[in-house]
Amino acid sequence: MLEVRGLTVSYGDHIAVAELDLTAHDGEVVCVLGPSGCGKSTLLRAIAGLEVPDAGTVVLDGQVLDGLRPDQRRIGLMFQDHALFPHRTVADNVGFGPRMQGLPRRHITGLVEDALELVDLAGTGHRTVTSLSGGEQQRVALARTIAARPRLLMLDEPLGSLDRALRDRLLADLPPLLRELGTTVLYVTHDQDEALALADRLAVMRDGRIQQVGPSDELWRSPASGFVARFLGLEHVFDAEVAGRVARTPLGDLPLPAEDGVTAVTSGPAQVVLLLDALRVTDPLLPIRAEEVELPAEVLARRFAGDHLRIRVRSKPGPELTVPVWRGDAPQIGDLVTVALDPAAVRVLPPDDAGHAAGADQ
Ligand code: ADP
Repeated sequence: MLEVRGLTVSYGDHIAVAELDLTAHDGEVVCVLGPSGCGKSTLLRAIAGLEVPDAGTVVLDGQVLDGLRPDQRRIGLMFQDHALFPHRTVADNVGFGPRMQGLPRRHITGLVEDALELVDLAGTGHRTVTSLSGGEQQRVALARTIAARPRLLMLDEPLGSLDRALRDRLLADLPPLLRELGTTVLYVTHDQDEALALADRLAVMRDGRIQQVGPSDELWRSPASGFVARFLGLEHVFDAEVAGRVARTPLGDLPLPAEDGVTAVTSGPAQVVLLLDALRVTDPLLPIRAEEVELPAEVLARRFAGDHLRIRVRSKPGPELTVPVWRGDAPQIGDLVTVALDPAAVRVLPPDDAGHAAGADQ
């Protein structure tokens, strides 16, 4: 199990990682998700011993790692730019870690074969790295990291340099591979799709700090901030003012949800986030539910999304909204529709810190 406590890393005056706490349990895949420059790589490098932190401690399986050299930590770190030895064979590359650990040759051969099998490249050990495709090279890099038998596997944007089709294929291969491996994994990405496909738990990071950690469905249901909501892909985030039991928003006055704990702000400035199922286009033949808020709207655009459409509408109060509709009864561009908003799928959150209100740092 990995425990990071109060970790702070700075470059000159710039604090890249700020008093950060993070835990990963045995065999768990934790994805650190955040925009470019928020400190993800610095976090991994500090855990690996490649950066000296200003403060904080890293504990792995009960052992305090502070002050240990990278090679004494038994942590595997794989970068996007995998830096294989191009003219050496696949087996030479994969056996690099075990050779550095001074293991007997027979043992190394076994580790290399096992690692190549795990990444579905059994039998390629004799080939040179340059004779393999980009995706295969990425898998060799993963096998090299695995063959060193790390106690913790850290992957830093490992799919970032691959084209979309290849990335999607590797993304499908990775979860069963990581499960079979059973090692604790810290996986860093700025891509929500990757994080959602892989993570047992997500940690959303911003400006050197973890903003929220939890299973992905929990983050979808209860994002802790407008930033987390936007970063997960929830696009409807509005500034609001809470007074009485009402949130004044650009969509009009929304009643606050009745349940305790759902509303983080009871008065003053706030942000409202519409969860994924907050909006629907009403059916003219069916009455709107009593609790729903009606928003007249005009259809601006339609976009296919697999088995349904997403329509872009301008609501009468002003804001544009994206609403899912089934293909069969999708309205046309220019049609007037009624969008129903379910207040139970609205979260009222504290306003974002000054300077980040527009979420422009994504
Ligand atoms: P991420 O991995 O989330 O993109 P990084 O950890 O690479 O973020 O960087 C965090 C911040 O620290 C950025 O502002 C970056 O410019 C800065 N930074 C990273 N590495 C260095 C370095 N070696 N020297 C100075 N600043 C750095």
